[in-house]
Amino acid sequence: MKKLIGIIILLMIVAVLVLLALTNGTKLQINPPVTAIGVLTPVQIEVTNPHGIRRIQGAIEQDGTRYVAFDSSQPAHRFLFWRYHEPTQTLKFEIGKKQAPPLHDGKAKLIIEAQSNDLRGRTDSIESEVQVITQPPRVTADGYQHYINQGGSELVVFTPAGYWTESGVRVGKYTFRSFSLPGHSDQRFSLFAYAWDLPENAVPVVYARNPAGAEVTARFWYKLFLKKFRSRDLEIDDAFLDRVVNQIDPQGSGDLLSRFLKVNGEMRRQNNQTLADLRLKTADRFLWSGPFLPLINAAVESVFADRRSYIYKGKKVDEQVHLGFDLARIQHTPVPAANDGRVVWAQNLGIYGNCVVIDHGYGLQSIYGHLSRIDVKPGDMVKKAQPLGISGSTGLAGGDHLHFSMQVDGVQVNPIEWWDEHWLKDRILSKIATQPK
Ligand SMILES: [Zn+2]
Repeated sequence: MKKLIGIIILLMIVAVLVLLALTNGTKLQINPPVTAIGVLTPVQIEVTNPHGIRRIQGAIEQDGTRYVAFDSSQPAHRFLFWRYHEPTQTLKFEIGKKQAPPLHDGKAKLIIEAQSNDLRGRTDSIESEVQVITQPPRVTADGYQHYINQGGSELVVFTPAGYWTESGVRVGKYTFRSFSLPGHSDQRFSLFAYAWDLPENAVPVVYARNPAGAEVTARFWYKLFLKKFRSRDLEIDDAFLDRVVNQIDPQGSGDLLSRFLKVNGEMRRQNNQTLADLRLKTADRFLWSGPFLPLINAAVESVFADRRSYIYKGKKVDEQVHLGFDLARIQHTPVPAANDGRVVWAQNLGIYGNCVVIDHGYGLQSIYGHLSRIDVKPGDMVKKAQPLGISGSTGLAGGDHLHFSMQVDGVQVNPIEWWDEHWLKDRILSKIATQPK
């Protein structure tokens, strides 16, 4: 009996030693990195420990005093941890002067401490140097009247102040960058769009924010003109499907119709994303001057934001919104640049076929699709009316035509405004004291 108790005690000691040996450390990472702490700054921590964590604390230390701003505990699993193979978890909390009123502007340390959820309960921590910045950003918008067409563009001038690092315009889910207003170093301006797909109650605001997480917004006077976008039926047959699908996606599998639907849906979204991403390739100066050129003497086959129903064998099989103008002239007509600018795309782009995109500065870009030939390359500076290539029917096109569109900071807009000299003067040029170029 005595011997049995001895064996049991020995086994227990071995078990405890094994558990201790199996204990794990916690890997902590502040992601994205935090450089400034304000009144209430969001912090995101990635925590990796296969046994999970029992406790995690977030604190700020300044002048030798530690202020705990976040403290979260979980029930201990001292002996059951072997059941746990926890994936990396992301914890979010807010930290700042609100929980630690004595904090003052200046240097501090952000400290994250986590305790492993196992027998030994090892504690690991990371520290990061931060600046406490409690001064908030401020922003005031211009006093102009802003008449905005749904699906169109507008410009606002504003003045951010206080501690700010990022500013611009927000309309619903869309954000537009700002640029320094030429000749007025204290002022900024944003070209922005009231996107065709926003509800009519989205309120445009200017905003200014800083890395400590503080953000202010300000409204400005505006009037929105609602537009009734058209609906159109587009008959498609096997000959059309066969031609476009085998040209755009020759490797695709499945029947013609399902391959077409993939091109028209998934590929259209990807191609539009590629166009939107080109917004980062913009000059911080005006490259254009005067009204943009339309393709003259062209038949307008489709206008901006037409809602297209695709009819196949008498049945509606798809619906997409067409974000541009379809302009048809004689076949293989030269395609002129709508204005001066720099070529930022000159190659195939899925449904747009051979496609050219020109940057005109400050996030404004023009798009030319379905070309049979491209005569420019990325980086080329082009002049208004200079031929970019020859029209065609590459990509998702029923016949030879130019697909023309424009975008403002990656959001496609109705180009009709930019063709209109009066609109350009009243809505854009009048608000910026300096003329483009
Ligand atoms: Zn088109």
